[in-house]
Amino acid sequence: MSIMRFSIPRDIIYGEDSLAELTNLKGKKAAIVTGGSSMKRLGFLDQCQKYLADAGIESIIIDGVEPNPSVATVWRGAEAMIQFEPDWIVAIGGGSALDAAKVMWCFYEHPQLKFEDIIEVGSMPPLRNKARFIAIPSTSGTASEITAFSVITDTENHIKYPIVAADMVPDIAILDPKLPEKMPAHITANTGMDVLTHATEAVVSIAATSFTDPYAIEAIRLVIENIETAFKEPENMQARYNMHNASALAGMAFTNASLGLVHSLAHKIGGEFGVTHGLANAILLPYVIEFNRQSTDKYAVVEKLLGIDDLAEAVRKLNKGMNIPACFKDCDEVDFSEDKFKQVLDRMSERAFGDPCTLTNPGKPTVEDVKALYTRSYYGK
Ligand code: NDP
Ligand code: MN
Repeated sequence: MSIMRFSIPRDIIYGEDSLAELTNLKGKKAAIVTGGSSMKRLGFLDQCQKYLADAGIESIIIDGVEPNPSVATVWRGAEAMIQFEPDWIVAIGGGSALDAAKVMWCFYEHPQLKFEDIIEVGSMPPLRNKARFIAIPSTSGTASEITAFSVITDTENHIKYPIVAADMVPDIAILDPKLPEKMPAHITANTGMDVLTHATEAVVSIAATSFTDPYAIEAIRLVIENIETAFKEPENMQARYNMHNASALAGMAFTNASLGLVHSLAHKIGGEFGVTHGLANAILLPYVIEFNRQSTDKYAVVEKLLGIDDLAEAVRKLNKGMNIPACFKDCDEVDFSEDKFKQVLDRMSERAFGDPCTLTNPGKPTVEDVKALYTRSYYGK
């Protein structure tokens, strides 16, 4: 039996208008990190700064974090922090802003480090010598507000690095469902199916335990019952609340139990074709469930607990209801030509096989299995 660890934020504050809890923060200076313009445009950035001022905390804004944040962006933020010396880092926005802020925090605390020094798992030195970290997500998907992960892109070499460090788990997560309310419907669908994938993969992971299963199973229930309402009625606050909480609950499970083949395949097909992460997951999930069924009885456990006949079919039904195609061939988000698919299939299958998420998938899939899964999910059979 191996020794396991379960790490989550010390405080998770949730519910409509929970952003106002920032007024109760104790500290002197905060660096607010955010993305392009959405938080400013929707008024949340001003609100955030006002609540901090009410708490007697002076703040600066580090904005302009791009989707798939780069090493250069991370250094730009770290340097602003080194100048300002905040005792809190407040990351508000999508997964990209939160991920970038986590690594800015690391370089603020340890300016002598280089990006290469933190790539290996377990290589990041301890954080919290200078500041603590609050994460306020505006999408309901990545769960970066909960996890020990950050994905940073080396733009020169076109490589996405997953940085893993238990110390990067935020101190406080604030889940205010008003932030994701204005997400466009297709982003609600894609990020929500990403949540369902996180939870489903965490349940069947070979690292799943009684500490992770309850969160994952509850997240599956919440997504199945709420995603279509959030998609069709964007301002339905109850559905937004449930989806926002589901994202964090799934995060509590997968940051501790890791993921599986859906993510391995999604990462690499995303790399080849540029398809959105959540959309790739949504298409792949039913095929991987059918494949994994021979190696785990956990889907049956979930089906029994949640009163679902067939989880793969339930996923297909949700996809259909939100106009997500059943296979990549029918996906028009990017160019999925058959020629290119055939051309990259072998390379992509090798790479997906070698993805770290494959290690915790139930059963021991071979490269041939991965290839067959790509083929089924491309042609839809
Ligand atoms: P992003 O943070 O990349 O944001 C995508 C777009 O959505 C941006 O244009 C952003 O605009 C906009 N946006 C964000 N919130 C809202 C809102 N409430 N209303 C309207 N528009 C909004 O998206 P994700 O949250 O999906 O994060 C993806 C990133 O997370 C990737 O880099 C991925 O690799 C990483 N990731 C991290 C994980 C982790 O555990 N840390 C796990 C999985 C993925 P603007 O920039 O103007 O704010
Ligand atoms: Mn994901």
